[in-house]
Amino acid sequence: MLYLKTDEEVGLLRESNMLVSRTLAEIASFIKPGITTLYLDNLAEKYIRDHGGVPAFKGYGGFPKTLCTSVNDEVVHGIPSDYVLKEGDIISIDCGVILNGWYGDSAYTFAVGEIDGNVKRLLEYTKVSLEDGVREAVAGNRIGDISYAVQARAESGGYSVVRELVGHGIGKRLHEPPEVPNYGRRGTGSKMEKGMVICIEPMINLGKKETVQMKDGWTIKTADGKPSAHFEYAVAIDKGEAKVLTTFKFIEEVINKM
Ligand code: MG
Ligand code: MG
Repeated sequence: MLYLKTDEEVGLLRESNMLVSRTLAEIASFIKPGITTLYLDNLAEKYIRDHGGVPAFKGYGGFPKTLCTSVNDEVVHGIPSDYVLKEGDIISIDCGVILNGWYGDSAYTFAVGEIDGNVKRLLEYTKVSLEDGVREAVAGNRIGDISYAVQARAESGGYSVVRELVGHGIGKRLHEPPEVPNYGRRGTGSKMEKGMVICIEPMINLGKKETVQMKDGWTIKTADGKPSAHFEYAVAIDKGEAKVLTTFKFIEEVINKM
């Protein structure tokens, strides 16, 4: 069952997703060596609640925190803790909110201080693979067109695409149909129509694609221990061009001043 949104509902989803974008920008300036991931989590929760939202991940399936903080070889679903960030780490921060009953969900992978050039290139490719996917997210295309575009870009850089976790529809629920894999073939999957709202979220590994789940029941890591990057946008399908409901602009304004 696909839930098509009216223009008004897409507007509400934009507000929810903009709150996520602003939350990630709020914590961006604190992402430095010496800060714990739990500190970032507390900042995010306060910012979301101060702006009328509710953290969407906290309690979702039993997840204990506001953010997913996944460092280095952690792919996604890392739990904020007393881990202290150090120079050269990367950290994927995934954040979800509920605002006026509608969900927002976005992720960005940050560099902690100066990072290795090979890892920087992984981050760039992952972000560009997301943008390539967005370009295919138009009415009349199929989900597989997005999947193919993401995979083609990631693999052209020599990277691999995580298979076990995928993007998703979003609306009054955090995860709605359809699934949006980051690998696949053109012309396959559901046909997109105006009013669909989906999260595209490539998870791209520097090494091999295989992942393992940690004993905490949440954290997913790369099997080979090499770094992984993750960027996520919510986009509303429309004719001609997708409406991106998320922005990295606020985050990057902060980063560029650091
Ligand atoms: Mg997310
Ligand atoms: Mg998501």
